[in-house]
Amino acid sequence: MAKAKTIDDLFYDTLKDIYYAERKILKTLPKMARGAHSPDLKAAFEKHRLETEGQVGRLQDVFEVIGKRAVGKTCDAIEGIVAEGEEILEEYGGTPAVDAGLIAAAQAVEHYEITRYGTLKRWAQLLGHKEAVALLDATLKEESQTDKDLTVLADAGVNEMAKAM
Ligand code: FE
Ligand code: FE
Ligand code: FE
Repeated sequence: MAKAKTIDDLFYDTLKDIYYAERKILKTLPKMARGAHSPDLKAAFEKHRLETEGQVGRLQDVFEVIGKRAVGKTCDAIEGIVAEGEEILEEYGGTPAVDAGLIAAAQAVEHYEITRYGTLKRWAQLLGHKEAVALLDATLKEESQTDKDLTVLADAGVNEMAKAM
């Protein structure tokens, strides 16, 4: 019989998943910034790239406080979400619709991260990893804020501009 897996294993595996995802996102954000037309959207991607560097560091701290090695595990979800974003760049790059498409792609990324960090924070609470709870919550707040900022940019005219141009 296979060794019974525990919620500790699940917590560690899910940390590896988001660690892989964050590093993938870190490589992708500069491409999104380059492809964006609106200077505000470019700036938002650049700001979040810097935040993402910090988030990778925070995850390394989480691995450390639980006494486990920081390793990634392929996240098929982020591979797919990022591939869709790259499709937007290929198919809509340089067109009036590119910014609306990039905002939509970026919000899919943020929502994936929000679900992962929400779950990880809850499991860290359950397992009594207090320091990890605080670290995961700090990133969860940044992801939620980024999602809100993208909605504000979309409402502030990026989508309207796409229609008008
Ligand atoms: Fe992130
Ligand atoms: Fe995943
Ligand atoms: Fe993010």
